[in-house]
Formats: sequence, C-alpha cells, structure tokens
Amino acid sequence: MLRSFILLLTAAALFAQTNVESGKKYPRIVIRGATVVDGSGTPGSGPKDIVIENGVIADVVPVDAMGAGRGGRRPAGDIVIDARGKYVLPGLIDAHAHVQDERGGIPQPLDYELKIWLACGITTVRDVGSDTRKTLELRRKAADGEVASPRIFIYPMFGEPKTPELARARVRELQALTVDGIKFTGIKRDIMEAAEDEAHKVGLRIAHHVGVEETTAWDDIKFGTTSIEHWYGIPDAALDDGVQHFPSTYNYQNEGDRFRYGGHLFREANPETLLKVLDGMIKAHVAWVPTMSIYEANRDLQRSKTAPWFKDYLHPVLEKYFEPNVANHASYFDHWTSTDEAYWKENYRIWMAALREFDKRGGLIGVGDDAGFLYSLYGFELIRELEMQQEAGFPTLKVIQHATSNNARILGQEKKLGLVRAGYTADIIVVNGNPVEDLKVLYPTGIETWIDGKPVHGGAVEWTIKDGIPYYAPAMLRDVKDMVAKARAEKK
Ligand SMILES: [Zn+2]
Repeated sequence: MLRSFILLLTAAALFAQTNVESGKKYPRIVIRGATVVDGSGTPGSGPKDIVIENGVIADVVPVDAMGAGRGGRRPAGDIVIDARGKYVLPGLIDAHAHVQDERGGIPQPLDYELKIWLACGITTVRDVGSDTRKTLELRRKAADGEVASPRIFIYPMFGEPKTPELARARVRELQALTVDGIKFTGIKRDIMEAAEDEAHKVGLRIAHHVGVEETTAWDDIKFGTTSIEHWYGIPDAALDDGVQHFPSTYNYQNEGDRFRYGGHLFREANPETLLKVLDGMIKAHVAWVPTMSIYEANRDLQRSKTAPWFKDYLHPVLEKYFEPNVANHASYFDHWTSTDEAYWKENYRIWMAALREFDKRGGLIGVGDDAGFLYSLYGFELIRELEMQQEAGFPTLKVIQHATSNNARILGQEKKLGLVRAGYTADIIVVNGNPVEDLKVLYPTGIETWIDGKPVHGGAVEWTIKDGIPYYAPAMLRDVKDMVAKARAEKK
C-alpha cells in the first residue's frame, strides 16, 4: 500500500515540468515521454526519455508507457521537459543559408534572422556567402552560447581569382581564416581545378552554385565538389550540343533573362544524358542541395508574395528588398507572366523527377533554403523546402532525413550532428504534432484544425535545443514579431 502510494507520487513528480529558463545551459536535462524520429529515416518510436548531459545526448531510453507504475526506473534531470504526445527530432540543418544583417545596404537586425531560425527548429546553418569576418565572430559567439543562434559553418564566396596560382593562394588565405569550406559561383574551369586541388589538400569542402557558365556538373564530378547548390549545371551537363538554346538577345547579366530562361533548362536536357550526369555525381560523391523553395515565386508569384507569415514577421527592410529593383540581387519580378510560370512549372516537374532518380540510384540529397531573396523568409522557407521535397515524391521520413543526417554528412559532421542518438550533440527539437504526418506542424506559426466548427490552433516547435541549451521557440517568435512591429512603427 505504502509502496504503491510512493510510486504514484513518483509518477506525478516525473512529469512535473520544471521551470525551464530559455537560453540557459543546464548540466542535465531530461525530455520525457517523447516519440522520437531520430533522423536516420527510420519511423517514429516512443515513448522515450532523452537524457542530455553537458550538451551531449547521454542516453535515449525506451520507456514502457506503464513502466513507472510497475517500478521501472526513469532517469532524472536538473530540468524536465514534458514531451508526452509530442515528437522529438534532430535539430534541422539549413545547408544553404546566408547570414544577413542588411538588405540592399540597409541595416536589418542580425537577431531577426537568428531568432526566426531558432523558432523554426534550425540548430545548424551552413552560411554560403556573407560578410565572412562578421560571421566568423558570430560562429564563435554561437559556439560559446553568448548569442541565441544556430551553430554556423562558414563557406565564404570564393570570388574570381585570375590565375590558378591566385586561386591556390585564395584557398590558403581562406583556410587561414579558419573557415569550414568554400562556396564557388561563376568559376572558370582552370581556376576551379586548381582551387579544388588545393582545397582537397587543406581539407576544405566545396559548395558550388554552378550557374550558366563554362563549368557544369561534369567539372564537379571530375574535380570532387562536395555539393552542387540549386540545380544549374546539372541540366547544362546534359545538353545535346553543349549550349543552351536561349533567345539571341539573352544576356546573363540581366537577371530578368537569367531567371526567366533558367526555367527552360531542364526541358533542354537530354533525359538519357541526364541520368549519366546523376550517376557521375553519385560515383564521385557529389551531393545535391536543390533549394527548390527559393525559386517558387517563379512558378507561383502570387503565392510567394502573399505568404501568411509576412503579416507579422516580414521585416520592412526585407520587404523593401523583395520589390523589383535591378540594384538588388534576384529582385527581378517587374514583368512576370503566366508563360514564365508555365515554363517554371515544367522545369520543376523534370527537376523533381531527377531528384527522385538521383536518390533512387544512391545520391545524397540535402536541404537548404537560400532565404533572404525572392520573397523567401528565413526559416519558414526551410519548412517550405521540406514540403516541396515531399511534393517531389519523397516520404516525409526521408525528407526529415535529408534535413538532418544527410545535411550533417554534407557538412562532414555525420558523427556528431543530425541524429537523436547517444553520443551525438544535443541538437534536438520538441514539436507539438507529428511532422511525419504533416510537415506543416513545423511552421513556427503552427497549424489550425477545425474541431466542432471552431478553429483549434496547434503545431509548431516548442523547444529548440542547441548544444544542450533549450530555447523556447514561441518566445523567439514573439521577439521577432516585436522587432518587426518596432521597425514598422519607426518607418512611419
Ligand atoms: Zn545562396
């Protein structure tokens, strides 16, 4: 009698969620009763208790639902996060992002982007082009827990060195800055060959935004690029006669031309050659970070311009940047037609099929959003990318794998990041809802379900735990909303 009374007491105490202070590092945290989707592509499993010790996942303990009542031992912690009925995933990784504290030269608070990322469950970001020195400082502060931020991997823009010797020197210069990798855009073949050779020697990974230019995916295959960003360069490697059939007046420097006719590229690719390109990438271990969501305005401008989260969360500086303006990269929607959208819709169909084929044959696909351009809002757009990967035909479990353990592999961090597993870094999110059923539960604004004629609000990430530091996601989002409201008021 006494024994069962004590056990009953213990069970009640077990789930009493302690007052968890957002942003504080605790030596030992227990997340209780979660259904875990561990990031490896295997299905959900739970209830489980997850023990975090000093920023590392110490244990993931399967718990019989009745275990406590039958005398099963449950781990204890300094704080307890009650995750009964909730899902736990590895923190999301954004493999293609840009740290931005300005848009079009107008300052935008850095915190704005960092807090949206955390509110969206993003614990790691691969920065592929920003103000490198500032981002190096941010990387340090994020690592030390001095600022609420995902961990940052820095792949600076390589630029255009004029000779192979200068390219090698540039690689060594970047390495000396302690960057994590290099980002190529618009690069000539001999420069690329020298830079890749040097980068391999010093152990730097390479992300390549190929573009319509001299090099194509064949060069990435030959020289050993880590990941192809976006998609340009892949259909270009499968053109029958090696040139794009654009109008004679086409001018790559004109972004209207560039993005409009970009939407014609996949239809020009020879389907059989395209498969050879994909096989070549797989054999050479070239991953693919397709960033489909960043181009969505090209197939549906109306949708992108009226995203529901713009109402409260679009900073006026970013809003201004999105307006058509030749001075701002990718702000080219001054004349966008149904014809352009139809081409882009077809482009997406072939692109999505190519992605599925790439995966089926053994290719490594990652997830990135490239937000901050083309009506794409940080964080939100990463969730949208997950939805588009589902649209491409991938099961949600696989989509989640792409954004977690696959991205960790692209970063070369697969032994530390991207899985909910003992020994891994404690980058974990607690979600109110089942993202395997509905990826939309990940949007920080949540979802609405109608029950008995009334909307019931639910979903969203509740806790974003990075390096074992719990951040309360709704508080992050509230801060973002305040920042936006303040900036709008100041503008008036
Ligand atoms: Zn980018």
